Amino acid sequence: MKVLVINAGSSSLKYQLIDTFDNSVIAKGMCERIGLGGSNMKLYPIGKEDVHITKAMGDHADAVALVLSALTDKEYGVISSMREIGAVGHRVVHGGETFSSAVIIDKSVKDAIRECVDLAPLHNPANLTGIEACEKALPGVPQVAVFDTAFHQTMPPKAYLYAIPYELYQKYHIRKYGFHGTSHKYVAQRAAVMLGKPLEDLKLVTFHLGNGASITAIKGGKSIDTSMGFTPLAGVVMGTRSGIIDPAIVPYLMEKENMTIKEVDALLNKESGVLGISGVSSDFRDLEAAASEGNERARLALEMFAYSVKRYVGFYACAMGGLDAVVFTAGIGENNHAMREEILKDTEFLGIKIDLEKNVLRGEIDISTPDARVRTLVIPTNEELMIALDTKRLVGK
Ligand code: ADP
Repeated sequence: MKVLVINAGSSSLKYQLIDTFDNSVIAKGMCERIGLGGSNMKLYPIGKEDVHITKAMGDHADAVALVLSALTDKEYGVISSMREIGAVGHRVVHGGETFSSAVIIDKSVKDAIRECVDLAPLHNPANLTGIEACEKALPGVPQVAVFDTAFHQTMPPKAYLYAIPYELYQKYHIRKYGFHGTSHKYVAQRAAVMLGKPLEDLKLVTFHLGNGASITAIKGGKSIDTSMGFTPLAGVVMGTRSGIIDPAIVPYLMEKENMTIKEVDALLNKESGVLGISGVSSDFRDLEAAASEGNERARLALEMFAYSVKRYVGFYACAMGGLDAVVFTAGIGENNHAMREEILKDTEFLGIKIDLEKNVLRGEIDISTPDARVRTLVIPTNEELMIALDTKRLVGK
């Protein structure tokens, strides 16, 4: 089946056309600056020349129409007709407590996604717009929603509740949700294949380290705890997000700096993390370059990131009562070997041991030494493929 995977942002729309027969990507690309003027589309048809189209897109419906006409274009298209698209899989950021797995979209699903808008005010409305645009353009084609939060719905209450009055959980659903679930689930499944063991028998810690970063404890294939929380601000130090801080800093800052709650929120989400510490950049390549030229704050930012990630190895090994493998993924996890080495320094007592020569290699790889009791894996994430496979599983039923 050919599945169109859609990831709609507020002014962007990323897409991939995947053939689930052999899990291959037929074409991918993105529309940018939707509704902003100067909008453009990129199409990367696999095995053909890249296509760049500059065309006004007033809304996501225009973007979907342009994507479909490009995919079916006589000259550079990859399918002969829209009828070849068997289903559409949508990335949806927040499924609240309603969705613990992917679902076929109907009116009640859209209503439930709408109810979660409060929890993800930037993302869920954009995701809904993408869904509605595809429904219009591809009537009768099944649409599936795959939620970033769904994989973490298996966490027990002791992990997902915050120790604030219980009534606030009941009234506002304030709890830990966790994010990047599709990525954590994908790499856990791949890890089981690489280790040659059933996922049900494994205790894994998965590190999704990109601009946003989260760590998950996966026991028997289920998320039992994760580092992000009610929002993606919690957990480790990130590109521009602070990660966990003492919440008392918020009122203190408001008072001392005369800041509004919105300003503090922006400070913690957009001006903090390794950017805030270094004053240089949120990108780890820039930080490494600056640190190697002697910039002390860039070096400190890298150290703080590694330390904030490392603590989850011990935390989650204890939470699961053991550890079989740690898995690195996403931009930093897949590409930054120096950071992997730094994070795993001093964890040998747990049985983790990496081969420094293997560590610099790329791709899906086991970088452990032969005698390591706990394996260390690098697995490039593939959220789009996971969405396509979930979509096929549901639509094929
Ligand atoms: P996002 O959360 O935006 O998807 P990514 O997963 O792309 O983020 O991760 C972005 C981070 O990954 C940046 O800090 C960048 O420095 C790092 N990164 C991405 N690609 C590479 C690479 N080829 N080599 C080293 N670092 C990389």
